[in-house]
Amino acid sequence: MGQSAMIDVRPMPAVTELSEPYWSGTRRGELMLQHCVDCENPQFPPEVSCTHCGSASLNWQRASGRARLYSWTIAHPPLLPYFAARAPWPVVAVELEEGVRMVSQLVGLEVEDYEFDMPLVADFEKVDEEVTLVVFRPAESK
Ligand SMILES: [Zn+2]
Repeated sequence: MGQSAMIDVRPMPAVTELSEPYWSGTRRGELMLQHCVDCENPQFPPEVSCTHCGSASLNWQRASGRARLYSWTIAHPPLLPYFAARAPWPVVAVELEEGVRMVSQLVGLEVEDYEFDMPLVADFEKVDEEVTLVVFRPAESK
């Protein structure tokens, strides 16, 4: 594959048996989180057991989609070709209302207007039949 072709190909997360409930959720427009049946803590990304208590009893529950901007960084090259062609590429860390953090993108807002702790809501960006990515946008439209 040549360099120019690679620029058009977005590197995709791998959908595994473990993460499949998350991806089928995003295809429905729902943000799903693993919860521990024993200690009730949510966790992200999905694991085979609870990262708090080690229990293997986990289920999936829909998250509210409400979050706050925890932190962000602006990615500059060197990057994978897809991202390098679109750099600078803002990458955000959000803290969901449920208390877990995710790395994502913030859409509908210029980087200059990012503010720590600003309220966000989850949105969904369909990439292909298998992958719909979770992105976040400001909770209040200005
Ligand atoms: Zn647990």
